[in-house]
Amino acid sequence: MEPLLEQTRATRAMCFREESALMAQLAHGQHPNVLYIGCSDSRILPSHILDAHPGTVFTTRNIANIVPPYTAMQAGETAVGAVLEYAVLHLKVRDIVLCGHSDCGGMQALAHGHALEPGLQAWLAYAMDAQAHLPSDLEGAARLDALIEANVLLQLEHLRSYPFIAEAERAECLHLHGWVYDFATERVRAYVATEGQFIQERAFDE
Ligand SMILES: [Zn+2]
Repeated sequence: MEPLLEQTRATRAMCFREESALMAQLAHGQHPNVLYIGCSDSRILPSHILDAHPGTVFTTRNIANIVPPYTAMQAGETAVGAVLEYAVLHLKVRDIVLCGHSDCGGMQALAHGHALEPGLQAWLAYAMDAQAHLPSDLEGAARLDALIEANVLLQLEHLRSYPFIAEAERAECLHLHGWVYDFATERVRAYVATEGQFIQERAFDE
C-alpha cells in the first residue's frame, strides 16, 4: 500500500477506536458550529488550535488565510465564497474564526515585495491593502507581525462585504473572530474590537 495512505489509515483507525460512537453518528450528517478560515501552512492543525473533535469545525484553508471580497466572488473568484454560502446559509455556523499565523510565507512575500508566479501574485493581491496602514517605523519581525494582524483585519472586512454575513452578524446569529496563532508560544492573539487591538490569550498556567 502507498506509504501516505497507510499512514492516514492508521490515524483514521485510531480516531475510530477513540470516538466510535461519535463517528457512527457523524456518518449520517454534520452540524458544525464553527467555520475556520486559515492558511494552508503545513505547521497548522486547525483542530489543535480549536481543540475540536470531528464534526464541529467546517474548514477552508488557502495561502495567507484570504477571503476575496464579495465583488471578486461576483467576478468569478468563487472558491471561498462558495464555502461561506454553504457554511453560513446551509450549515448555519454560529462563529467564523479567521486565523492568521506567525512566520506566514504569504505575508513575508508581500512584505518583501517578492516577484511571484502569476497565480500567487494574483491571489496575494487580495491581501495587498493590509500594508496600507502599517506604521512606517516598523521593521523586520515587528513589521511582519503587524502585517499578519492587519491582514486578519482586512480579511474580516472582506467577510463583512458578503451581504448574508453582514446581515447574520447584525442579527447576532453569527460572530466573527480575528485570531493570530503564534508557533513560538503556541498561543493565540485575538482581536478585541472594544480595545482596538489583538490581545494574547492567557497561558494554561496563568
Ligand atoms: Zn501562512
